[in-house]
Amino acid sequence: MPNQIQEPARFRSQEYLDVLDAAPSASTIHLPSASAEIMRKEAAAGHPLEVCGLLVGRLMDGDWHIREAIPVPNLNSERAVDRFQLDPRAFQEVDNRLRNSDDDIVGIYHSHPDCPARPSPTDLENAWDDYAYIIVSVSDSGVQDLLCWQVNPDSRRFAAVTVDED
Ligand SMILES: [Zn+2]
Repeated sequence: MPNQIQEPARFRSQEYLDVLDAAPSASTIHLPSASAEIMRKEAAAGHPLEVCGLLVGRLMDGDWHIREAIPVPNLNSERAVDRFQLDPRAFQEVDNRLRNSDDDIVGIYHSHPDCPARPSPTDLENAWDDYAYIIVSVSDSGVQDLLCWQVNPDSRRFAAVTVDED
């Protein structure tokens, strides 16, 4: 697929390069195509603003098994082009709903309007261990990429997670 996104210069800066591990993660995220479709649709509909949401499922033996992607309002209205802030009430509601199920909130997705699907230094500051971070790159002409990342607890950098969409 041709990359139609003009990569902003900051993504080539040392600060941004330092966010990424050289080696990929050994983990895989298993993603139902219906969930991937929700994220792609939301990212395209929200462009040029960032959208975000929760990944619900299970983390087993280091791999994520996603059952559902749930869109959540982005509360950051001041910098909604390049920042997101999950609505904590929505987070709590989903968490409560899952209390008697086998599933948990195991990750977060957000979009990068007109930017690569690579995490930023701000994404790293806000990232939790054991969470899967899906980033959807989206431009005027639609979704370009859907990539997944996790924090390597040793290096404190993001490592690329294999996405298995089925
Ligand atoms: Zn981001």
